[in-house]
Amino acid sequence: MTVLPKRNSTAAWQAQDRRHVHPFTDHADLHRHGSRVITRAEGTYLWDSEGNQLLDAFAGLWCVNVGYGRKSIAEAAYRQLQELPYYNTFFKTTHPAVAELSEILVGLTPKQFNHVFYGLSGSDANDTIVRMVRTYWNLQKKPNKKTIISRIYAYHGSTMASASLGGMNYMHELADLPLPGFVHVRRPYWYAEGGDLSPEEFGKLCAKAIEDKILELGPDNVGAFIGEPIMGAGGVVIPPSTYWPAVQDICKKYDLLLIADEVICGFGRTGHWFGSEHFGIDSADFMTLAKGLSSGYLPISAVMISDRVAEVLSSGVDFNHGYTYSGHPAACAVAIENIRILEDEKLVERVHDETGPYLAKRLRELLDHPLVGEVRNVGLMGAIELVKDKKTRKTFEPVGEVGTLCRDHCFANGLVMRATKDTMMISPPLTWTKENVDEFMRLATIALDLTAKDVGKK
Ligand SMILES: *Cc1c(COP(=O)(O)O)cnc(C)c1O
Repeated sequence: MTVLPKRNSTAAWQAQDRRHVHPFTDHADLHRHGSRVITRAEGTYLWDSEGNQLLDAFAGLWCVNVGYGRKSIAEAAYRQLQELPYYNTFFKTTHPAVAELSEILVGLTPKQFNHVFYGLSGSDANDTIVRMVRTYWNLQKKPNKKTIISRIYAYHGSTMASASLGGMNYMHELADLPLPGFVHVRRPYWYAEGGDLSPEEFGKLCAKAIEDKILELGPDNVGAFIGEPIMGAGGVVIPPSTYWPAVQDICKKYDLLLIADEVICGFGRTGHWFGSEHFGIDSADFMTLAKGLSSGYLPISAVMISDRVAEVLSSGVDFNHGYTYSGHPAACAVAIENIRILEDEKLVERVHDETGPYLAKRLRELLDHPLVGEVRNVGLMGAIELVKDKKTRKTFEPVGEVGTLCRDHCFANGLVMRATKDTMMISPPLTWTKENVDEFMRLATIALDLTAKDVGKK
């Protein structure tokens, strides 16, 4: 029998952990410093194995929308695991939890969505959508219409297909991606790339980049466009108001399926149930749901399918695709209870009416800080741009160093805030009160001041 070391110290856990491969981790750095061990969470706070308390301004990874420590969610899982811990939804079977969740999701999502397919992660949900797009165009007797257009710096997951949908170079380089059939156009990132154009002009220009790409490839060869309403991991890129209306027009004009990846924007993050509502996106054919669907308590994802696509997909073919755990009973029970909490505590309304606007107001105070070039947010999804020259929006070199510095100062001072390059990003639990926003501002200012000192700006 294997004897495990006593599980009672940071050093022991770090030793056990040392040779294992972590997602998105600098392993040389990990081996030098050891991993941070998180042992407990409650509300919006985390504790590490050294007893340090951290304000989690990132909701885990954009996902713990109802906050940590929800007993009613744990109980929902416990009850379901006793009653029916597992059964699959293959071959015409179902179970109550999955049927009930489907009904709820159809009720919450825009009106064209009346069909659901379940997975375990945002990545596999987007893989499912790629298969559905290809199947759809095969059944429409347009087998060439399969290229999918996405954006540079988009994040859609880490499987081979979802990473191909994504536009992260550093992910592509690892594994000879993207696969054939995936192309990328510029993103509507006005602060970094808008130059002298107004945001409105720039939004139109970025939409036109999609049309140009369609015409370059030939409309008969392009099957779909995918976008997050607001890019998350790419830096909380909030598109100008002109962007999404133009994108929808282009998709209609060239008969492209439109995929709204709502993995981050969904379930209240933007102060609406879905980011699509904030931007008036009303003609999507697919919606990808994960993260906030269960607030991360158990892994589950869902693909919402529009009526016009579902009609074709169910017209006399077997959809030979599915995961052993598609519609897992406990994960469905957790999602149902999570949605009940969002509704009963009116968290989406609170983000829209109260905490979102308050965060916007407080973030603007940071514009006086020597490092801060721009702040932006929709609901409780926000970003702080750190720049060398606020007037010209010139970035630091090498890009990313200052963001990493700031992130480390945050961690050391009791705050979790994430950095993409030199963009600091926040996405806290939707349970945040104004007092939590105030606490965030206090801790973020400490980290920003320390960063500025390091950079030698003060
Ligand atoms: C996180 C994320 C995904 C991938 O979800 P996983 O559950 O990590 O596979 C897909 N799309 C977006 C927009 C995401 O933020």
